[in-house]
Amino acid sequence: MKHIYGYTIEALKEYLLSIQEKPFRANQIIEWVYRHKIQSFDEITNMKKEFLQILKKDFILDTFDLIQQQNSSDGTIKFLFQLQDGNLIETVLMKHIYGYSVCVTTEVGCNMGCAFCASGLKKKIRNLETYEMVLQILMVEHLTKLKITHVVVMGIGEPFDNYENVVQFLHIINYPLGLEIGARHITVSTCGLVDKIYAYSDFDLQVNLAISLHAPTNELRNQIMPINKAYPLEELIKAIRYYINKTNRRVTIEYILLRDFNDTKACANQLADLLHGLNVYVNLIPYNEVKEKPYQRSSLEAMHAFYDQLKKRSLNVTLRREQGSDIDAACGQLRSKHLK
Ligand code: SAH
Repeated sequence: MKHIYGYTIEALKEYLLSIQEKPFRANQIIEWVYRHKIQSFDEITNMKKEFLQILKKDFILDTFDLIQQQNSSDGTIKFLFQLQDGNLIETVLMKHIYGYSVCVTTEVGCNMGCAFCASGLKKKIRNLETYEMVLQILMVEHLTKLKITHVVVMGIGEPFDNYENVVQFLHIINYPLGLEIGARHITVSTCGLVDKIYAYSDFDLQVNLAISLHAPTNELRNQIMPINKAYPLEELIKAIRYYINKTNRRVTIEYILLRDFNDTKACANQLADLLHGLNVYVNLIPYNEVKEKPYQRSSLEAMHAFYDQLKKRSLNVTLRREQGSDIDAACGQLRSKHLK
């Protein structure tokens, strides 16, 4: 059985040609699947019965089991889904003034080993298949009856460590006759796999890039992000500069504020030096504390002082509004609790 949610328009056309069908049916199928959200191919009314039998034989319209759902008072909803092989993943829905976004998971577990992050408490078991990423959005739409307008690839896992599947996923959710999520409404976040940042610079969709930086010097970054030993800051910044020149797009720099670790005025100045002249926008993130980890959230004063210092140094900066802090919102917390 093939997973229909993993099929790009091109792959679907190829399939149709392989069974001597007209490729234009691909667009019709996509509309039925993503616009009418059919649960069975029998619901399709403008195709011959014999053809629908073939689709039913060849394709599966997958689904996940919902294991747990946590609703936050601010509208954030966290879903724990069970994949068909029994593995668990998290998907988060967030409400914004501009619409609804879904935070998509790309791997079962994660191998990046960031010292502050709950996702890495469980090593990577496997990559998610393309259809399993698409299905997260469909499941959230199905369960909430909302239309998702934005996607952030910031759930469990490192998207650039599952690059090919993530790229297929982006094509599928962006396709105009399908979910039609605008490329500029999609952001992929990486901890800094430099070779893939170069590859992503040539990607044909206008999708946004976010970098989890979290420290302004190699000395500090090595302590919390093992990836920095493979790709130190000089190489990362060089790749970011290449991406910006190539795509002409502004890059988001994510920076979690950790108490007495990276939240000092000296760190703010080092960060401003590091990012000087780059077309970036810094998103300061209040840390969601993780029981198993020693790091603490910065004080409100420290966060504001850090923000002010970056402003003073003329950086574009925001202090992220917190969402879902009452519901195990930190990456990987719900899953790791459930697995205990
Ligand atoms: N691997 C990718 C995407 C997943 S993590 C990446 O590293 O970017 C998404 C973002 O959440 C990253 O910036 C990550 O550093 C951050 N994050 C992880 N744990 C967190 C926590 N406990 N509190 C706040 N942000 C966290």
